[in-house]
Amino acid sequence: MYSNPVSFNSTYKDVEASSVKGAILPIGSLEQHGANLPLDTDTIIASEIAREAASRLNLFLLPTIPLSCSAEHRGAKGTVYLRPETLTSVLKDIINSLREEGFKYLVVFSWHGGNFVLKPAVRYLNLDYSDFKIVLVSEQTYGDALRGIFETANDLHAGEQETSLLLHIKPDVVKGTAGSYEPSVEREMLDYLPMLKISPTGVWGDPSKADRVKGEKAFKAIVESIVKYVECMVETLNIS
Ligand SMILES: [Zn+2]
Repeated sequence: MYSNPVSFNSTYKDVEASSVKGAILPIGSLEQHGANLPLDTDTIIASEIAREAASRLNLFLLPTIPLSCSAEHRGAKGTVYLRPETLTSVLKDIINSLREEGFKYLVVFSWHGGNFVLKPAVRYLNLDYSDFKIVLVSEQTYGDALRGIFETANDLHAGEQETSLLLHIKPDVVKGTAGSYEPSVEREMLDYLPMLKISPTGVWGDPSKADRVKGEKAFKAIVESIVKYVECMVETLNIS
């Protein structure tokens, strides 16, 4: 096991005394995850994966942003979402704070797939600073590492993958198993209709295929992919 990273639980003296040069920002969401998983599913998953990655990479662990771009789940009571420009502004303020304090880079790790605004935001924020880099970690970074672990081909939301991860990380929050649902439309339909108008259960995938062992395997594979990717970026971009 790795030791606890320097984090938001540390004192500022601990952070000063540490050798951390970079920070990691987990981004979760507050959105419906069917009848079986809690609204803060993405926040729980993002927090635990980021904590492990921070230990491995010697990064300062920031608190998880608990709200993000979840408008596709609007109408499900308890869902609260930010507009893309709000999330970008928050990200910019976080970067400016860290930069002023001498940090050299920020790893942005979003578990919520609807935060695709992060891609252009990070690309353009990287133009603004010559002494600070922002490294984005998303589905593209770890997607390949999950091949062979899960059975469901079209697992998008609150299905086999997220249920398995929670069974590994925090099993007490999983409330039984919701029925499977595979919409007959593509993911792009979420540009036009909220999830609950497409999938009556709010699930897109098959949570009945979830288990703790798959969750543990996926958790390790995701952390490993993030560690490799960030190490590679730190070396390639010569961040130090
Ligand atoms: Zn989720």
